[in-house]
Amino acid sequence: CGIVGVLGKHEAAPILVEALKRLEYRGYDSAGIATVNGGSLGRRRAVGKLVNLSDLLVHDPLPGKSGIGHTRWATHGAPTVSNAHPHRAGPVAVVHNGIVENYRELRTELAEHGIGFETETDTETVALMAEHYLKSGLPPVEAAYKTIDRLVGAFALAFLFDGEDDLIVAARKGSPLAIGHGDGEMFVGSDAIALAPLTDRITYLEEGDRAVVTRTSLEIRNEAGELANRETRKIKVDH
Ligand code: GLU
Repeated sequence: CGIVGVLGKHEAAPILVEALKRLEYRGYDSAGIATVNGGSLGRRRAVGKLVNLSDLLVHDPLPGKSGIGHTRWATHGAPTVSNAHPHRAGPVAVVHNGIVENYRELRTELAEHGIGFETETDTETVALMAEHYLKSGLPPVEAAYKTIDRLVGAFALAFLFDGEDDLIVAARKGSPLAIGHGDGEMFVGSDAIALAPLTDRITYLEEGDRAVVTRTSLEIRNEAGELANRETRKIKVDH
């Protein structure tokens, strides 16, 4: 339902939770975040209000300056902790808005490779597919792009990778996604309102776009894989 991401200078967890709070108006049943800390990927998830996630983070902090977060509105699978996002498969974590319509076919294909499932969600197949491509030897960006190319449906996605402290791969198809430009920091949000306290310089991804985001760069490609120029706008959001 809501996606946020940060490649920042400060601890990511409080920034992600704050940004998710600004998306609460959209409604959700569970929430979670993942960070990369010194190259190591971790995540925390909780059912119910964001305060449950904040409480969990007090008792079990998640350090790291790079991260992604999600508020979920369940479409496939009950609102449980294991169905909450981020979904993780080995070295990759994914947050997803929308529906992967061909997830059954993708599951069948993954099962043929001996890959098992831990959740009832359509989203888990995205993480497992990306892991599968990583295992086949593709680097993170290519593995994510190849995964995105396999997906049918309406979605916005953000990928985070173990061992990659300065990388988020993002994609938009039928569900909006904005990239926010900071000063040596970069942000991702399913709407600009989430990013309002962080930056007012926003690049909206267009339909079919996918993006490689680092702290100092943003490279956007269209659905055909060609480099795309998207305008960066100074936007005004009422706080
Ligand atoms: N289809 C996904 C799920 O049920 C994402 C739902 C959402 O947009 O929050 O987990």
